[in-house]
Amino acid sequence: MFIYLNDKLVPSSEAKVSVFDHGFLYGDGIYETMRVYDGVVFMLDEHLRRLFRSALLIGLDIPKDVPGIKRALYETLKANGLADAYVRLTVSRGYGPIGLDPDLCKGATFVIIANEFKDYPHAYYAEGIRLMVASTRRNLREALNPQIKSLNFLNNILAKIEAKKADADEALMVNAGGYLTEGTISNIFFVRDHAVHTPSVECGILDGITRSLVIDLAARSGLAVREGEFVPDDLLQAEEAFITNTTMEVMPAGRIDGVHFKTGEVAKLLLKKYKEEVNGYVREKKGESPSLWE
Ligand code: PLP
Repeated sequence: MFIYLNDKLVPSSEAKVSVFDHGFLYGDGIYETMRVYDGVVFMLDEHLRRLFRSALLIGLDIPKDVPGIKRALYETLKANGLADAYVRLTVSRGYGPIGLDPDLCKGATFVIIANEFKDYPHAYYAEGIRLMVASTRRNLREALNPQIKSLNFLNNILAKIEAKKADADEALMVNAGGYLTEGTISNIFFVRDHAVHTPSVECGILDGITRSLVIDLAARSGLAVREGEFVPDDLLQAEEAFITNTTMEVMPAGRIDGVHFKTGEVAKLLLKKYKEEVNGYVREKKGESPSLWE
């Protein structure tokens, strides 16, 4: 397996980062996870836009421009012979002496890890996954904006630990006001009164790329979509619920806390539409240019 480290591909055994890296010491850095279908990185421009937004919000200089990152991504996929994969792109502040000052670091550390994508168990889609509402609250937007896709995941990890203790697959968090926000690695949707509901960005969430596409697909399918403030009870009384992210796509909930849900028609429809969108995107990108990064 080859890893892209800073400016070249290296065997994974040689892909090492300093213990003085501020990503390791302080969680000072950002990342993106992308999915590759048939050799094409899905929604690459959207992911790179969000990466540069995260960088701007923490004052981090990414050591490559957009074409350079695209080239590095596709080189990594090629070196590993991957067509259906997930890719994690991490940019940390880099290494420097101990101390919080970002200027102690001379330059960012840039890493791409790509690996084969293994499908989630079929039952996750057929019967749905187990969700729970954690007592750990989502970071206050004004303290650590969840729109920064940062290496600081302790908030989400604390919620994930709660999920594991409750025998659930994913934890949902509410914000300081008690309104639903998102999962530890996903956005949440539910269906009530013939409308698709999801917490608004103002609730303090990462504006998932899958979330935006699913909102668009729902609207294009003639469904009403409501973004707003909702409490856990709204969710528990829903007809159906599902979560979204880049690797899970649209995954239905089978249980939330003690309440059981059936995989609903809306989740099935949106998953089908999502897959059609992926197929169309891949066809278009492959037809567009001989080199996918140009
Ligand atoms: N919310 C959080 C906290 C996440 O970490 C993620 C993905 O990692 C998402 C939502 C979903 O985002 P996307 O659809 O862009 O993968």
